[in-house]
Amino acid sequence: MPSLDQILENIHSYHPGADLALVRRAYEFAVKAHEGQMRRSGDPYVTHPVSVASVITELRLDVPSVCAGLLHDAVEDTSTTVEELTEVFGPEIAFLVDGVTKLGKLPYATREERQAENFRKMLLAMARDIRVILVKFCDRLDNMRTLDHLPVEKQERIATETLQIYSPLAHRLGIQWMKIELEDLCFKYLQPGEYEQIKQAVARTRRDRERYIAETERRIQGEMAQAGVACEVSGRAKHLYSIHQKMRRTGMPFEDIHDAIGFRVITKSTRACYEALGVAHSVWQPIPGRFKDYIALPKPNMYQSLHTAVIGPRGERIEIQIRTEDMHLVAEQGIAAHWKYKDGESHGVRRDDKKFAWLRQMMESQKDLDDPTEFIESVKMDLFGDEVYVFTPQGDVKALPKGACPIDYAYSIHSEVGDQCSGARVNGVIVPLRYQLRNGDTVEIITSPTQKPNKDWLKLVKTSRARTKIRHRLRREQRERAQAMGKDLLEKTLRKYGASYAKTAKHGDLERVAKELKCHSAEDLLCNVGYGKVTTRQVAEKVVPEDKRGGGGKKGDGIVEEGVGPLQQALRKVTRRTGTTGIKVQGEDGVLVRFARCCSPLPGDGIVGFITRGRGVTVHTRGCPKALDLDPERRIDVEWDGKASGSHPVAIQVLCADKPGLLAHISQSFSDSGVNITQAHCRATEDGRAVNTFHARVYNLDQLKSVIRSVSRIKGVYAVDRVAADA
Ligand code: MN
Repeated sequence: MPSLDQILENIHSYHPGADLALVRRAYEFAVKAHEGQMRRSGDPYVTHPVSVASVITELRLDVPSVCAGLLHDAVEDTSTTVEELTEVFGPEIAFLVDGVTKLGKLPYATREERQAENFRKMLLAMARDIRVILVKFCDRLDNMRTLDHLPVEKQERIATETLQIYSPLAHRLGIQWMKIELEDLCFKYLQPGEYEQIKQAVARTRRDRERYIAETERRIQGEMAQAGVACEVSGRAKHLYSIHQKMRRTGMPFEDIHDAIGFRVITKSTRACYEALGVAHSVWQPIPGRFKDYIALPKPNMYQSLHTAVIGPRGERIEIQIRTEDMHLVAEQGIAAHWKYKDGESHGVRRDDKKFAWLRQMMESQKDLDDPTEFIESVKMDLFGDEVYVFTPQGDVKALPKGACPIDYAYSIHSEVGDQCSGARVNGVIVPLRYQLRNGDTVEIITSPTQKPNKDWLKLVKTSRARTKIRHRLRREQRERAQAMGKDLLEKTLRKYGASYAKTAKHGDLERVAKELKCHSAEDLLCNVGYGKVTTRQVAEKVVPEDKRGGGGKKGDGIVEEGVGPLQQALRKVTRRTGTTGIKVQGEDGVLVRFARCCSPLPGDGIVGFITRGRGVTVHTRGCPKALDLDPERRIDVEWDGKASGSHPVAIQVLCADKPGLLAHISQSFSDSGVNITQAHCRATEDGRAVNTFHARVYNLDQLKSVIRSVSRIKGVYAVDRVAADA
């Protein structure tokens, strides 16, 4: 446990005029309040608030914050009241303690509710006084450091919450060291196996790495000195969690993560930053696309630095960050770096500082706190990895997957709202339906009774709920169209037979015929007529007795061929006998088929057919998502006839290292398998990888599989996937 003296000394070092007597009193108060209480570790309880206060001094916060750290659990866990604290320590400290206490209370049952509410409380607290959040962070950090003593379920719950809320917020506030420590601690408790593996791998390679770091530091330092740029160079391994994330993202093993070490060049001036960059780029070859100027364009969390990556003397990738000492302080301490102490007074975040525009916005909305949505509107933070939290106009929180659009939101309210969603207002402004929702958005859906879901919506939505509902509607519409068409056709035919559709329907004849033709209902019958599965003639013959048929019926359309089913009949109309298609439709050859471009089925793929009026049968692969959007009523059995001879288009995506020669190697692999590439698109990604999409023609699935196998075996290739041919 850090001692009181140490805490006092820390404060004095950054704030010489601080009221240390007040800190001493807060300490004595805490010791007394927690007297007799123990932590699970067996230590006296007061060690916790004292540790928290010590972390607060690492953030160089003011005296009220340190006192709040010492007293933060007094109201929660002892008989002390806020009124008492106000009396003894004044309203400011009491307010901070009260804020921290309230942040800890989460009456919500589900994880989602709890997190949304916690997030909201955090934002509210920040808006009121950023110090509440900072004290809470220090509290959480100490809890994470001492998590060992808690039962496993509690460890997991706390670590999950920390990873999802605290570390992104720490990042957003720019407190990098805290973000890193929190992430590694969460990693340790949430994925102990992986954590241990990486930890050991890092330890195993320590000696090599340290030698390499020292050597590279010297080289960079030497080159900078020669060019007359005064600076300090230091290298360090990235934290375990970021190595883990990189391994997961790239699929690379630990040994291949070469940029797990970052080098930092700290200069005396902004100008020297650019000079140092010039030196680095002239001595080593820069990697294209890796240079970022966060000095000219600071990150939203105020981070400033130049980033680049170069090819080092051993051909390895070296990541370099260049910044001034001031920038470095901000990079580590973030918002806390901006506390200014002079004349014995502490000045919190200065309101006129442009860097705090986003925070100022929140703080200024303090007066509107009755309506929390109003200030959250102005807070657009991208804190969460895979979820966004948005607000209803009533201020309720909705969690949606990242990338979700207003349509997802509309369906999350009610399926009718989704179906009739014709537009949306986000934070009071009308946005297109493809708008991607952001954290803190307040969303209001505009509905119109004439609006209907359309196919394009499926490309926009991210939630399965919206997708299912839209599909359902689309299918229903297809059916309705088919029914209308069936009714139309039947009307015409019945007229020819001298009968009337209206009368037939009225007499319930359609139901009878439907049953005879094995359809579920009259609607079903009409639908099948519309799709061409049942001919109008079949129906007419059952409706009108032979002797009562009008003149036109008997010989007029003489399409019926003996022994040929109605389906084949319907299909024959559109059949062109142009050699073999390689497909049998319900066992029949020679039916006009089209291969769907979305999935381009190959001989060997599982396939399904869909009747398309006038265009024969469209063949999709079994798993094709587009096929799921079609009415299952149109579905029809298809199979490969084993005689297919033509080639089929496919597309293959190859994720690989972005290095010379690899592309040639990959195309060689294609031609070795006898496959012609018809088109290739190559794109380098920011992290030094390349995404290549090859369009080619193959004869069957086996051939495709053999290409994929041989390309996967090439060194430097990370992943090979078949993708939609129209991609
Ligand atoms: Mn605590």
